[in-house]
Formats: sequence, C-alpha cells, structure tokens
Amino acid sequence: MNIYDLTIKNAYIADPEKKTITWGNMGICRNKICIVTKKDISGKHEIDANKKILSPGFIDIHAHIDGDPGCGRLSLIQGVTTTIGGNCGGGMLDIGDFLQSQDRNGFFINQAQFIGHSFVLRDAVGRTDPYTPANSHEISQMEKLLEKCFDEGAIGLSFGLEYAPGSSFEEVIALSKIAARRGRLVSIHTRLSGPEELDSLKEAIDISRITGAQVQISHLVYQYGTGIMKSALEMIDDARRNGINVWADSGMYTNFATGMNTSVYDTEHIRKFGWKYSNMLVASGKHKGEYLTESLYRKMRKSSEDVVIICFTGVEHEIYDALLNKYVIPSSDTGPSPSGNISEGHPQNSGTFPRFFRKMVFEKHYLSLMDAIEKATLIPAEILGFKSKGRVSEGADADLVIFDPETISDRANFHHPDADPIGIDHVIVNGSIAVSNGKIIKGVLSGKTIRRD
Ligand SMILES: [Zn+2]
Repeated sequence: MNIYDLTIKNAYIADPEKKTITWGNMGICRNKICIVTKKDISGKHEIDANKKILSPGFIDIHAHIDGDPGCGRLSLIQGVTTTIGGNCGGGMLDIGDFLQSQDRNGFFINQAQFIGHSFVLRDAVGRTDPYTPANSHEISQMEKLLEKCFDEGAIGLSFGLEYAPGSSFEEVIALSKIAARRGRLVSIHTRLSGPEELDSLKEAIDISRITGAQVQISHLVYQYGTGIMKSALEMIDDARRNGINVWADSGMYTNFATGMNTSVYDTEHIRKFGWKYSNMLVASGKHKGEYLTESLYRKMRKSSEDVVIICFTGVEHEIYDALLNKYVIPSSDTGPSPSGNISEGHPQNSGTFPRFFRKMVFEKHYLSLMDAIEKATLIPAEILGFKSKGRVSEGADADLVIFDPETISDRANFHHPDADPIGIDHVIVNGSIAVSNGKIIKGVLSGKTIRRD
C-alpha cells in the first residue's frame, strides 16, 4: 500500500467542481492532492477529520495583507489559504521584489498581488493630489509601469477611485485597456460620491464594456449597501445579460474601515454621505474604542499619524441580498492597522469567512453548503485563472480546510477584532498542516506567491 506524505481520513469531502459532498479519504503527496478514495490509505502524517467537511481552502479575492504577518495569521485561522493583495488602488510598486522576498522568507498563506492605480501608480508618476487628473505624460508613464508590474507577475490592476476622485476616465480606460490586452483582472473600488449614487457603478461596468477587461467590483456592500443594493444588482444583472464580464465581492458587514487620512474622511465627503461623527469608531491608536466628536475628528485630521476609523452605516439585509447572487463572492477587505497590532482594526480581519457560512447557510438558509463552498473556493479560482486552486480533484494544490458545519462561527466583534473563529479545525497550505485543532502551528510558512505570466 502507498504511503502518502499526509492523509486526511474519515472526511466529508466537498468537491465544488462535481457539486458533491461524499465520505472518503484523501492522500497528499508533497504539495498536491494525489488521491481521493473511499479505500483505506495511510500516510506519514494522518488527520482524522471526524466526519467533518473537507473543502478546498478559501480564496479571499479582496484583501490588503500585502505581506503583513498579523493579518496573514488572522486569515489563515479562518480557513483562507490564498489572499489577493494590492486592492483599492493600494499595495506596492515593486511587485517583483515583494514576491521574491515573500518566497524567500515564506508566509502563512499563498499570496497574489494587484498593482494599484490610485495610490501607487499615481504616486509613482508624481500625481499625489487625489483631486486632479493625470496629464498625458503621466498617463504614458503609468502605462509603462503597469506593463512592468504585469511582467513581474501582478495578477491584475486595482482602482480605488473613491480615494482619487480626480482620476480621469481617460486614465482609467488607458490602463484598463492594457489589463484587457494582457488578460488580467481589473478590480474596482468605485468612485462613490454619495449614498444614493449609481453612476460610479455604471462607470465600472463601462470600463469592462469599453475595454473588454474582466472587472471585479470591490466590497459591493460597503459601496451600495445603503438602501440601493437592489438597483445595483439589477444594473450588474443587466450588464451580465449583455455579455459584459463583470463580477463582484462583498464582506459580511455593512460598517467599513479605512484610514483617517484618506479622502473618504474629507469633511466634504462625510457631509455628502451624511455620516455622523458619533457613528465613527476609532479602531486603532491611542483613542481606540472611542467614537469621534467633531473636536477629536479635527485633532486627528491635523495629526500626521494614520488611524483606522470604522464608519457605522448601511442596511444589514443588503449583505445577504448581494451574496445570494452567483456572481457575488465573499471577501474580507482585511488589512493591517498602522501599528501592525492585530487587536486593532475591523472584525472582518478574522471573522469574514466563518461568518459567511454561519449567516448564509446555517442561520438564514439562503445558500446550500455546497453553493457557499463554491463561492468561497472554485468561483474565485476561476475568476482569477487559478487552475489548480479551489478544487479537491487529484493533481490540485493541497490547500484545504476541515471545518465543522455544526459550529463554524466568527467570534470577532468591533471591540475584539482579532478573536479566533470556532469550528475551523485544520488548515493545510501546500500540503503542510498550518492550523491543527483550531491553533496555528508555529513556524509553518508554507504559503507561496502566485504570478501570472
Ligand atoms: Zn476598497
């Protein structure tokens, strides 16, 4: 009898390609799944899954981990085995160096990166004022940098148009055309300018229509979960019916987090949305846990220290309305607090995926377990062009999660954003056991970087 490097026995194996959940055993050779069988098999290491669900590891299409170890750990412990960074127009310019250094040092989970337009490419060409458009010389410089980042392995281009509202449609189209030609995804945090505004969503759809690029609309509920989700979904449905390649992702919360020093918290932007200071929670730094007052807001805006602020807004049921659709997949929007302290920030950092299963499948019964698994694994893998991830077939990467469907749940909240979830028993990253019995195993850094060529 073959001895595998690792066997997972006595599992209900969820296969999103076949849409089946069947009892069996799995053998892993190095970093690949090499057998799925009902026969008894043995391995150098064995996990008894205890009849729990064995699923492909979750793929988080919208994140800002960018190599931050604290956030990497919080994603791993919720079952995420692959994270996509550089979203919302952020991240780093030197993608090649970043990917190489991550591979050299190892990381908790697999990482792929978008190259960001709104903070990164614009800054690189000297267009630091978010309220003014790039000129034609700057656009051509950004085009060259974008090609270089794609050469170095960036999997797509991201926009954070709400953070750089001065960006012209011309610069956005010029860069998206390159992404389309090179077959890369375009991730768009839309140019939101008011609570009941859908022109920004139309713009994102137009980017796909005009350039042919595949577009991923970022954190749909943070953008349109303000009472206008139904209209937003109708607009996307209509575009998809007309053959436009547009998808979306969403977290499990209506209350978003972002930096105090970004244009999202400019006085005029706050006024347009009608946000109240008393609904804005300081989530990092020395005022953590306090709600803003006008004087605290003014003091913090004057300070150069960046701080995470969570804005309480939105309509809860619009989260579920969005995620019911096949083309909307779960994402965390996780990112480190400026201090790097994991007890600061948003509960999305450790709660998103367990909360997605608990709410959508077990509490609300809006999705079947199989549909939810497919949304967290195979669909993002297909959007991203990852042919060996998000699957449990023989030959797929051994990125796996074993969870208890009876108990899976988030425990993080706005005061304890880093509380570990429950019900996630084991997580395997590239064939190595990284979480065992709900605890991270020290020193396992088996995540790899993923490049597009
Ligand atoms: Zn964003």
